Amino acid sequence: MRDLIQVTTEKMVAAVLYGKRDVRIEQIPIPRVGFGEVLVRIKAALTCGTDLKVYRQGFHARMIVPPAVFGHELAGVIEEVGEGVDSFTSGMRVVSANSGPCNRCFFCERHLANLCEDLQFINGAYAEFIKIPERIVRQNLLMLPDTLSFQEAALVEPLACVLRAIEETAIIEGDTVVVIGMGPIGLMFVQLLKKLGTNVIAVGKRAKQLAMAGEIGADYVLDSTSSNVVEQVRNVTNGRRGADVVVEAVGTTETWQQAMGMVRRGGTINLFGGCPSGTQIPLDTTLIHYSEITIKASFHHTPRHIREALEAIHRGEFRARTFITGEERLPALRIVLERLLNRNGDIKIAIIP
Ligand SMILES: [Zn+2]
Ligand SMILES: [Zn+2]
Repeated sequence: MRDLIQVTTEKMVAAVLYGKRDVRIEQIPIPRVGFGEVLVRIKAALTCGTDLKVYRQGFHARMIVPPAVFGHELAGVIEEVGEGVDSFTSGMRVVSANSGPCNRCFFCERHLANLCEDLQFINGAYAEFIKIPERIVRQNLLMLPDTLSFQEAALVEPLACVLRAIEETAIIEGDTVVVIGMGPIGLMFVQLLKKLGTNVIAVGKRAKQLAMAGEIGADYVLDSTSSNVVEQVRNVTNGRRGADVVVEAVGTTETWQQAMGMVRRGGTINLFGGCPSGTQIPLDTTLIHYSEITIKASFHHTPRHIREALEAIHRGEFRARTFITGEERLPALRIVLERLLNRNGDIKIAIIP
């Protein structure tokens, strides 16, 4: 009987994560769609800092227990729709976010769907197909404008997180904003903040990424590996007061602390980069209290921001192309991830099944 099932189950190629830096390309069953679900044939998946973290540590506390398929930024074509799906049909070009909120909990009722107590995640973008659950189909599966490529569309998820952070931090035209960390997320902040009319001080480590920050409009580009970067930031702000806003997009204790030293009195810090769980940092209470510093953080996105991100890419307000620096086939995934771990200057790589 088991053999019979093996023979009759259709297979697909997918990347399966087994543990630390152990990803294998395997044949696994194509997921079956049930009520309200949609099967998407993936046309492009993008590498992401979170995937790199998962690959390096072999799991994700909230999202992935190996062995598991992974990858979460994707766009493709609908292959099949389940019963009860009436807003989509096969052949449609779509992008899906990687989660869907419950719409019923305390947080969802307060328009904080990103903090939903029952946020449903999907993983498995590094594969030929992915099944989109009913809840995500209903809220976070969007049709693509004809002119938009799959690769550009797949940027919707990280972009939505960044758009939400800018909104939540109430950054306005004319502000001086420091962005620490010139990975894909930091660079997205730089591009959007320039569009918003702010003065941007980009702080990063790698020469290629710093060069990119300059190309996309950062007013100052500071190398954090050279001498005292906090002082360098102060030196380029008015009266050495520090920046109105500091966005931390790295996720280390060192950079979280640097952010405290770079902000002006009355300014705001957004700790966007997540540190490993259990991490603690000391706080200079005098600085926080007497300088009235607001410390906040931003996590994830909401369905509204997913829509706004797609619009921003479509209207060209966000130049998605800039962020995709290469294209590889699925079997090369492990090599790509290893290369990204060595930080060769790539931003995002499109993985094509
Ligand atoms: Zn991502
Ligand atoms: Zn909820």
